[in-house]
Amino acid sequence: MARKTIGKTTRKTANKATSKAAKKPIKARIKKRIEAARKGKAARLKPAKARSKADAKAAHGALPQWTKAEIEEAFRRFAAANPNPSTELEHADPFTLLISVVLSAQATDAGVNKATPALFALADTPEKMVKLGEARVRDLIKTIGLYRTKAKNVIALSRGLIEKHGGQVPHDRAALEALPGVGRKTANVVLNVAFGEPTIAVDTHIFRVGNRTGLAVGKTPLDVELKLMEVVPQKYMLHAHHWLILHGRYTCVARRPLCEKCIIADLCKWPGKTTAHLPATASR
Ligand code: SF4
Repeated sequence: MARKTIGKTTRKTANKATSKAAKKPIKARIKKRIEAARKGKAARLKPAKARSKADAKAAHGALPQWTKAEIEEAFRRFAAANPNPSTELEHADPFTLLISVVLSAQATDAGVNKATPALFALADTPEKMVKLGEARVRDLIKTIGLYRTKAKNVIALSRGLIEKHGGQVPHDRAALEALPGVGRKTANVVLNVAFGEPTIAVDTHIFRVGNRTGLAVGKTPLDVELKLMEVVPQKYMLHAHHWLILHGRYTCVARRPLCEKCIIADLCKWPGKTTAHLPATASR
């Protein structure tokens, strides 16, 4: 009896052990597969996730500070690569520049450049623009976003220029910002491009580049502008905003910055860049 019990127990234990031994490799294989699938998914998501994590870190101002020497070096390289940068908005004088900048709000320069030749062929002065009228302007710029509001502003600001400034674009920030449809960014572009003032017009590209690289971290465009005014060496100030816009538009692009082609990759503080192996402040 006792033997029987012992036998039963032994058999039971043996069976349990056998089934455990048999199940273990299957379980292990399944676990391995799940793990591999997880890893695969993680690997697929990694670059995008890593970039957004890096962006979040940058947005919180948690990046290392740039030294004066690094900032100087970055702008020295921008200047060497493109000594005379300018706006990509086609214009002939301060008035056509002002109109183009007003039209470029929440639109691309390329899109504005497609519409303005026909507009300026008919109206390249405030007087001609008012004479052309809102409906005709609206029709000529209808390929540009927010064209209804913009047509209204173009006529109102042209009228304002005639009534208050003798038909001239004023070389004065407050007077510019008092015109319909003209904000700080537009005034900064006009002051810089038309009048050679060392202003920095922070658009979406400069805002991103400033925050992402750690060069000028700020929650608003004005924060970034003021920070850039503080850190950019005076001798580079005139062209700084063009270099940063072009850098953001063509290299440090929003979705996946082209760090591998970036001329300031070794200076940049963004933790998501793919070229961390580059030597610091290497001369280029
Ligand atoms: S390395 Fe260059 S492209 Fe990449 S995030 Fe920095 S500034 Fe932008």
